Amino acid sequence: MAKKENNKLKILIAASECVPFAKTGGLADVVGALPLALKKLGHDVRIVIPKYKLIDDEKFNIRDTGLRVNIDIALTNHTAIIKETFFPGTDILVYFIQNSEFFDRDELYRTPQGEYWDNAERFMFFSRVVVEMIRLMDFKPDVININDWHTALIPVYIKTIYSNNDFYRNIATVYSIHNIAYQGLFDKEKLSHAGLPMDLFSIDKMEFYGGINYMKGGIVFSDIINTVSKKYREEIMTPEFGYGLDGVLKSKADDVYGILNGIDYTIWNPQTDKLLPVNYNEDTLEQKENIKKNLLESVGLKYIENIPLVGLISRLDDQKGLDFIAAIIDEMMRLNLQFVLLGTGDEKYHNLFNQIKAKYPEKISVNIKFDNKLAHLIYAGSDIFLMPSRFEPCGLGQMIALKYGTVPLVRETGGLADTVSQYNFKTKQGNGFVFSGYDPYALLYNLKIAIDTYKNKTTWRKIQLNGMKADFSWDESAKEYVEIYKKAVEKRIR
Ligand code: ADP
Repeated sequence: MAKKENNKLKILIAASECVPFAKTGGLADVVGALPLALKKLGHDVRIVIPKYKLIDDEKFNIRDTGLRVNIDIALTNHTAIIKETFFPGTDILVYFIQNSEFFDRDELYRTPQGEYWDNAERFMFFSRVVVEMIRLMDFKPDVININDWHTALIPVYIKTIYSNNDFYRNIATVYSIHNIAYQGLFDKEKLSHAGLPMDLFSIDKMEFYGGINYMKGGIVFSDIINTVSKKYREEIMTPEFGYGLDGVLKSKADDVYGILNGIDYTIWNPQTDKLLPVNYNEDTLEQKENIKKNLLESVGLKYIENIPLVGLISRLDDQKGLDFIAAIIDEMMRLNLQFVLLGTGDEKYHNLFNQIKAKYPEKISVNIKFDNKLAHLIYAGSDIFLMPSRFEPCGLGQMIALKYGTVPLVRETGGLADTVSQYNFKTKQGNGFVFSGYDPYALLYNLKIAIDTYKNKTTWRKIQLNGMKADFSWDESAKEYVEIYKKAVEKRIR
């Protein structure tokens, strides 16, 4: 078949969440930003997500398309209502798949008591409706970009039970892995609920330790796979980070890419940030000190000149390396610093940091909550931004900190390794401090170097400016996405 001549692609992005409609994590930020950058490059891009109860039809002007799709799940027929709206402020169409039984719930995936019992069915339904829906619309995608485990069955359907259908023959699939720790593991009976053949229950397809693994299906059946940084791409092909999928990824290594997420500089820019008491740029960095005073006052710490302020904003989860901090907290508190923490998550970390706060009330402020305004203040008002993650597929915090002239101290992993480089005192290159290994004392050692360096205002300013120069906008990353979309399309029509 002839090569596709037209350079403009029709792209459908299928995901379980998208800013501003529904968000639990970084996936939603990507799905809410990448399409806008793709559109700027001239491509016809559309988005499809489930219509959760929390998505308000009126607020987003969501209307019924009149299209209906009927799917059997575990021998029971379910109807999907297809709705649509434009992504706010754009002419990008967003489709919503509505079904009250599956998606009219208070949360997206889980309650505090645990995962919804029928997540396998909810997302097999969503995936199959997407596959069916495109046949009914006047939009046949060249490529479907699926994301994480929730939409991983889309290529499985296309390459198995729809493989004899001409309509699907040239539709390529690209699989984006945002976090390999969440794979969608279920009993093998779910294959029959999904209407998929039982021969998928084999080691070279979806079988995984006696059950089935949605993410493995996505990897095996997609044309191209990508993840959210180059370093994480390498890491997930090792037993340490691959969570059991390193082997299958390695077997497709030539088709696995790593593209760094961007950040939205219309939101994260110290020069225009409306949540700051005063704005600043490379030439007015001294304003950071005023924001620091404001921040310290609002979190109940005393401002003392020349004491560096360390900031940390994070989900309080094992992934984030908080146990490293716990291990060295007493030594850390003896250093000449103040520490402000903002985060929510695991109860054990809430307790731990509250205990630390009780012990060192003058030095540390612990804020157990989700607070966007305080986050902006911490990014701008801190001197050092701490991100000691055990693993970090991409990470946004360090990229935001760099933009705000707040020097990151990170563990060398995933996207942190790709965006933060150790400052070199001879060459004056580098934008932060980086430690490696699993040794909390490596973190402490680097923190001491950072605090020492902070005393030298000229050097410190140089590191800040190196960081502020970096450009992690979506524009560059979107071009790389287009390249892998084209590779996927070529593989399908070859
Ligand atoms: P992850 O997606 O693993 O949580 P990222 O670094 O990619 O980590 O993104 C986290 C984002 O959420 C950052 O923008 C960070 O500022 C924000 N964030 C995390 N916790 C909080 C909180 N408690 N309050 C406000 N913003 C938060």
